[in-house]
Amino acid sequence: MSARLVLLGPPGAGKGTQAVRLAERLGVPAISTGDIFRANIKGGTELGRTAQEYTARGALVPDSVTNAMVRDRLAQPDAAQGFLLDGYPRNVAQVAELDAVLADQGLTLDAALEITADADVVVERLLKRAEIEGRADDTEPVIRHRLDVYAEQTAPISGVYAERGLLLQVDGIGEVDEVTGRLVEALATRVG
Ligand code: AMP
Repeated sequence: MSARLVLLGPPGAGKGTQAVRLAERLGVPAISTGDIFRANIKGGTELGRTAQEYTARGALVPDSVTNAMVRDRLAQPDAAQGFLLDGYPRNVAQVAELDAVLADQGLTLDAALEITADADVVVERLLKRAEIEGRADDTEPVIRHRLDVYAEQTAPISGVYAERGLLLQVDGIGEVDEVTGRLVEALATRVG
């Protein structure tokens, strides 16, 4: 099955968890730009050093850096039959870049899945995650900034995909299995 998908939603909506589960079901790789940045930061690479300046304060890593990284990742053989992008695109310019990467291969996106969740719920979830995972950018001031960045730069993306008839919205409140079920159901009519 080919499935070229993006997963949208605010920080703390459960994108990472759901991306892994959904990608497994679809037999495509889950590609998280945040995870790639974190791996590079941990590994002390040059990309990691650049990314850290931005991720530490909850700002977006510059498009020039992020777009090149995503272009490379999508060129890997495991993404040839499809992918589920988690955390990319995150602004309107990245939407255009993803379109261009796919158009170069004569491809288009199949759907944009959005996990919705209220701001109060996501802040609570992120603060809980901070205790468990100890992510450097899960402190309250950085969380607040990430949510502002999301509202200003990322939320408008939904409208872009909605206009193309690609947007599928799913309620992110509930048990993990329940939300996965909603995503699978939403996709069932679209991907084949
Ligand atoms: P995430 O794990 O998706 O919450 O991402 C963690 C951090 O990585 C974000 O707060 C940004 O600093 C950076 N990041 C992840 N994806 C992107 C992207 N598409 N564009 C720019 N920065 C990103």
